[in-house]
Amino acid sequence: ARPRVVVVGGGFGGATAARELARGGADVTLVEASEAYVSCPFSNAVIAGLRGIDAQVLGYDALGRAGLRLVRGTASGVDPAARRVDLGDGTALPYDRLVLSPGIDLRFDVLPGYDADAVTAMPHAWRAGEQTVLLARQLAAMPEGGTVVLSAPANPYRCPPGPYERASLIAHFLKTRKPRAKLILLDAKDSFSKQKLFEPAWAALYPDVLEYVPLASGGQVAAVDPAAMIVRTDFADYKADVACIIPPQRAGRIAARAGCADRSGWCPIDPVTFESRLVPGIHVIGDAAIAGAMPKSAFSANAQGKVCAQAVLDLLDGREPESPRLINTCYSLVAPGYGISVAGVFRPTDGLLADVPGAGGISPPDAPAAVRAREAAYAESWYRTITGAVFG
Ligand code: FAD
Repeated sequence: ARPRVVVVGGGFGGATAARELARGGADVTLVEASEAYVSCPFSNAVIAGLRGIDAQVLGYDALGRAGLRLVRGTASGVDPAARRVDLGDGTALPYDRLVLSPGIDLRFDVLPGYDADAVTAMPHAWRAGEQTVLLARQLAAMPEGGTVVLSAPANPYRCPPGPYERASLIAHFLKTRKPRAKLILLDAKDSFSKQKLFEPAWAALYPDVLEYVPLASGGQVAAVDPAAMIVRTDFADYKADVACIIPPQRAGRIAARAGCADRSGWCPIDPVTFESRLVPGIHVIGDAAIAGAMPKSAFSANAQGKVCAQAVLDLLDGREPESPRLINTCYSLVAPGYGISVAGVFRPTDGLLADVPGAGGISPPDAPAAVRAREAAYAESWYRTITGAVFG
């Protein structure tokens, strides 16, 4: 019989792995909780009123025709000894190998005041969908001269440049649509992805709109009061008309239920095969994995899905997987038609995925407008290509 592989999570990582495993001849079952996938890349443009949410919704019809079994439901438990995944409805799915790509859970147990109910008053919009639309509506309804407070968490978290792209596009929205309004970006760290590109761009484009408060200046949020719309740090209380809190995160909960998450909340893996260091026979990819220097991005999840699928096929066939190289590129929009990027190449080194020295880098700091415009166009074509390859 063909080896049975179950994949939990049909996002950028899991859908990629499921396709590649099916192409390689495995008997693949993909378990996905949602009816349709709502994609995070470009969702910051939805928040800023530059794009409709419909452009973010990707269906599962094509995946259902990709030679795999698509099961709609939530994986509620894993029995690694019996090699079985249990679904919420009582279905049991036996596997020879299991791939988990559940993405993230937001932590509602660390920031005082920011519990699961607070997300209506202070959306995170860090999983795309209703939250994205809610934040967009709140911004559109904000009075002129209002204050937006946006908070970025400490590392690690999904999409390292994401909060700064969001700050940029909200600043663009305020500058063009809400005279005299301000955005305060509170950060729980002092340095961030593509900082050398974001900060000069903010100084040029949004000098009177965007105020950046790093950790060293008291940027770490200590508590929130959603009823009073106050964001507190140890130094000041910020009264907000609109507040977007991006809280700390951890691997999607099925990873912990399967025993694959460590005390950090994320999943240590072997960088050659993405097999869990804690539970044999289970592989973890995408945001949920501790992938060393590789950022938690859709680009990374897609690359990891391919590498992991090949390793699983090799292991099931009794071959030794080859040590991989993986690539990531993350584009961000600072304004419409103004794109920047960071790229990296990674390989297993001393048990972790490490940067290949000299192989990556960021867009040139002093590039002319034509280069920024070209990168904005590359970002769009990257999105069309990856969503076509994974969901098309
Ligand atoms: P996800 O894509 O979150 O997929 C997880 C899937 O698993 C979901 O469909 C979920 O429903 C399902 N699932 C979870 N648990 C279960 C369960 N128990 N049973 C069944 N199904 C389950 N990345 C880029 O590369 N470029 C960008 O420009 C970019 N922009 C971003 C902007 C923002 C604002 C944000 C928040 C993120 C951005 N990202 C970007 C990051 C990207 O969205 C994530 O890194 C990527 O989605 C990770 O893929 P994943 O497969 O690990 O998880």
